Amino acid sequence: MQIAFIGLGNMGGGMAANLVKAGHSVHAFDLSADAQARARENGCATFDTVREAVAGAQAVVSMLPNGAIVASVYANDVIGHAPTDALLLDCSTIDVATARKVAADAAAAGYAMVDAPVSGGIAAANGGTLTFMVGGAQDAFAAAEPILAAMGKAVIHAGDSGAGQAAKICNNMLLGASMVATCETFALAQRLGLDLQTFYDISSKASGQCWSMTSYCPVPGVGPQSPADNGYQGGFASALMLKDLKLAMAAADEVGAPVPMGHRAEELYSAFAEAGQGGVDFSAIIKTL
Ligand code: NAD
Repeated sequence: MQIAFIGLGNMGGGMAANLVKAGHSVHAFDLSADAQARARENGCATFDTVREAVAGAQAVVSMLPNGAIVASVYANDVIGHAPTDALLLDCSTIDVATARKVAADAAAAGYAMVDAPVSGGIAAANGGTLTFMVGGAQDAFAAAEPILAAMGKAVIHAGDSGAGQAAKICNNMLLGASMVATCETFALAQRLGLDLQTFYDISSKASGQCWSMTSYCPVPGVGPQSPADNGYQGGFASALMLKDLKLAMAAADEVGAPVPMGHRAEELYSAFAEAGQGGVDFSAIIKTL
């Protein structure tokens, strides 16, 4: 297929390369000349504008920083410029309301669109092992699935338009809150005189176990290899966790859902980012506890 790809950053660069590896002709665009140069090295054709990249496309994939940018790129340069039979797939993490509005505007102009945010970081984007959570009509999902499968290990239909974003921010709110809970628990265990490896051996087989403990333990030298064992470098940046928690708080406000634990996690990650720690892995919040 001829696929336009917009946003060739940390995530999009690897995803576009995997579409090329799957045999697609990728017409790519990014505002950054460096990102465009890397995309050419990976076999993409690059263009000077979004409009040129989407001309003649059978599908348009975007991986952009936030909802305001997604809304403006689709309104100004994709809708009305890509062929109307092109399938539109936004893989960025953005707020549910914007995802639904962009998809509705696209539908009004005759396009099928899905929101398809991802779980998995830069390594998964490069390795083609992302998990996609997809919101959109059944036929749009069916058309999107083989395209997304070239970039991921799992493609799951979450429901109608916006449901992919809803699933993503609900999952990440749980992750943020459970990471803080895991960190404060290990800090308490230490102050109570427990050996942390011994506590891990107990709790990982007891009712307190969770992913933040058993797959991503924030304590160096305890549990499987994780960013804690690498000075909290790599992994999932605290600033990105904060972005997702803010999206979750906005969504909760909109529907009047009480989310006290998510709210507290958002406060703690805000303070952590303000202290200059936005670039370190999100499990490093244990250092504040
Ligand atoms: P990034 O900042 O590395 O890449 C974004 C790219 O978009 C940049 O190259 C930038 O130049 C480009 N861009 C910005 N405005 C543009 C425009 N108007 N037109 C074309 N290109 C434009 O960010 P990233 O880490 O690749 O994240 C992208 C999305 O993926 C975000 O929504 C993020 O929340 C989500 N995400 C990231 C991760 C992660 O671990 N990095 C994991 C899951 C989801």
